Amino acid sequence: KNIKMTAEDSTKLFENFVQAQTCIQVISTFQNLCEAVALQYPPSQSSSSAQCSFYPRLKNSLSSSWRAKSLFGKLDKRYLCKEYFADQRLYKSGSRRAAEDLKVLIIGAGPCGLRTAIEMACLGAKTVVVEKRDTFSRNNVLHLWPYIITDLKTLGAKKFYGKFCAGAIDHISIRQLQLILLKIALILGVEVVFNVSFEGLCPPTQTEASQTANKGWTARVSPSNHSLRNYEFDVVVGADGKRNTLQGFKRKEFRGKLAIGLTVNFINRHTTAEAKVEEISGVAYIFNQQFFKDLQSETGIDLENIVYYKGETHYFVMTAKKHSLVSKGVLKQDYDNTNELLCYNNIDQEELMKYAKEAADFSTRHQLPHLDFAINQYGQSDIALFDFTCMYAAENAALFRETYRQKLLCCLVGDSLLEPFWPMGTGCARGFLAAFDLVWMTKQLALKNNKVELAVLAERESIYRVLHQTTPQNTMKNHQDYTIAPSTRYANLNLKAVTPSQVKPLFDTEATPMVVDLVEPPNVHKSFLTRKVSMVRPSKLLSWCQKMTEGYPGVEVNDLTSSWRNGLALCAIVHRYRPDLIEWSQLTHTNIQTNNQLAFDAAEQHLGISPVMTGKEMAEKPEVDHLMMLTYISQFYEVFKNEKP
Ligand code: FAD
Repeated sequence: KNIKMTAEDSTKLFENFVQAQTCIQVISTFQNLCEAVALQYPPSQSSSSAQCSFYPRLKNSLSSSWRAKSLFGKLDKRYLCKEYFADQRLYKSGSRRAAEDLKVLIIGAGPCGLRTAIEMACLGAKTVVVEKRDTFSRNNVLHLWPYIITDLKTLGAKKFYGKFCAGAIDHISIRQLQLILLKIALILGVEVVFNVSFEGLCPPTQTEASQTANKGWTARVSPSNHSLRNYEFDVVVGADGKRNTLQGFKRKEFRGKLAIGLTVNFINRHTTAEAKVEEISGVAYIFNQQFFKDLQSETGIDLENIVYYKGETHYFVMTAKKHSLVSKGVLKQDYDNTNELLCYNNIDQEELMKYAKEAADFSTRHQLPHLDFAINQYGQSDIALFDFTCMYAAENAALFRETYRQKLLCCLVGDSLLEPFWPMGTGCARGFLAAFDLVWMTKQLALKNNKVELAVLAERESIYRVLHQTTPQNTMKNHQDYTIAPSTRYANLNLKAVTPSQVKPLFDTEATPMVVDLVEPPNVHKSFLTRKVSMVRPSKLLSWCQKMTEGYPGVEVNDLTSSWRNGLALCAIVHRYRPDLIEWSQLTHTNIQTNNQLAFDAAEQHLGISPVMTGKEMAEKPEVDHLMMLTYISQFYEVFKNEKP
């Protein structure tokens, strides 16, 4: 260790780390690198300065490696962002970071857990990620919203994976995304513990004869004797996917019509013939009915949509109609109960493989020379049939627990918080937004005194209320400026939509927390706090809107885009249920800005539906965005669906 490393040595060790392609390799090459530069990894769990000095010290030690320097140059831009510092006005390298006194435990090293860990480390918090597996093996490919591509490039993703979103490509395999994020997290001093499962929380215990705790909040883990059980933390983040293990969060279920998904990965041998085959970035039935009719008449396969991405594998994901799975022998018996229908014993794997091959072959116009299955983590053909009829969302994004005066902030992120609807590709996009939001919340708590806890919780819940409405169109356009500060990312955000008194039930404490802001929003609709994310199907929503606007002169709803532009349809829906809010006779179809603003304001103030844009923006936009309108109008459906006009 005393031998001074040559530039060549450090470059080689760093290169091994950059090239590592499995979790185990990443960890071991990183440990070799740290050992060679005499840097303790993981940084001490008890010293906050060890966490904050880790990255600067690693950077110093590798200053002779041009490759490492070029990555650090990129990463520094993020790491030195003023939002992470305790005093934003006086920040400079080495200044105090906002959460240096906090310790965080993140459950799950999926994309959202790792992205949260990176932000927590930037904020200065000691951060440990616990992951029950020791492999990243998901070949499935994620479509990424443009802001995610900018975000990852800013973190230096291309230095680890040169092909990352090259040219027009806007997707990456989950496995590769996890590898990139893991490497960045390690560089920032995040401790990632593999092969250990989080089982539950252990509250602090009381010291003899006093009301104070002798130990803080810890985790029950498996294996139970792992040293992680002694780690005491102030913040715990549930990022363990849709089967969330962190207790205390109520979940809502959204049940749509039966939806059966099929994912399949074929080997990509990267031949010229394969390179020529065009990707399918999302063919949905409503947009290309002829394609699906031809598919059905030629093969008997009936689909609602299909996506094909080319990366490390040829990846297809599609929604298959039940009758065609039954008639093609994929499903042995037709059951009404979805669990019985899709249980392993009712699926004929051979027929399923044939079905997927035929669909892939037809949709790529028979241009893929080989359709050989890639292998999944279980050593089997990478093909899966899954049910997404039901989806879940947490009612709240965060809550506090307190025992013996030891407070614990519990938060959810990623699929644990809001399970995505995959055909819209919202998983990582909304997952990363939620990661930034929770780190922003952590910062507010770290900097302020206890009196504002409810206010901070209320702000977090206000932001969560808009998460499920976000689309690439209604979020801020300048992606380079995105930080943990919500105002850099969300347009038209009402940070006071939820009040501190409304979130009091989210504070599970011995003492009553202080409510610092008691202002109630005026006439908020009764279901506001418990509003659920709507998963109403577009066709059902459209027919509901047609019914609700029937009889209103000048209103004709034919779609979820241009029919809404002049604002009359929106005003009509509000007017049908709440004639007191809109003077219908005063409206004219040419007043696009006024009509829309009127409806947006009424919905925000009286129904608790946050606007997705302003009336002016609607008037100036040449086209109305389908996804944005779908998510916005579905809020009205949720509010009114059980009420009589
Ligand atoms: P996960 O990726 O599920 O990670 C959770 C991690 O927690 C796992 O590594 C797991 O091993 C670990 N874990 C679980 N329990 C424990 C425990 N008790 N202790 C320790 N560790 C634990 N998203 C997109 O952005 N774009 C798309 O195009 C897209 N397409 C999709 C297509 C399909 C068919 C599906 C099913 C999903 C799609 N998604 C898409 C969603 C995307 O996959 C998820 O949003 C994303 O993987 C969520 O990341 P996460 O970190 O929240 O959870």
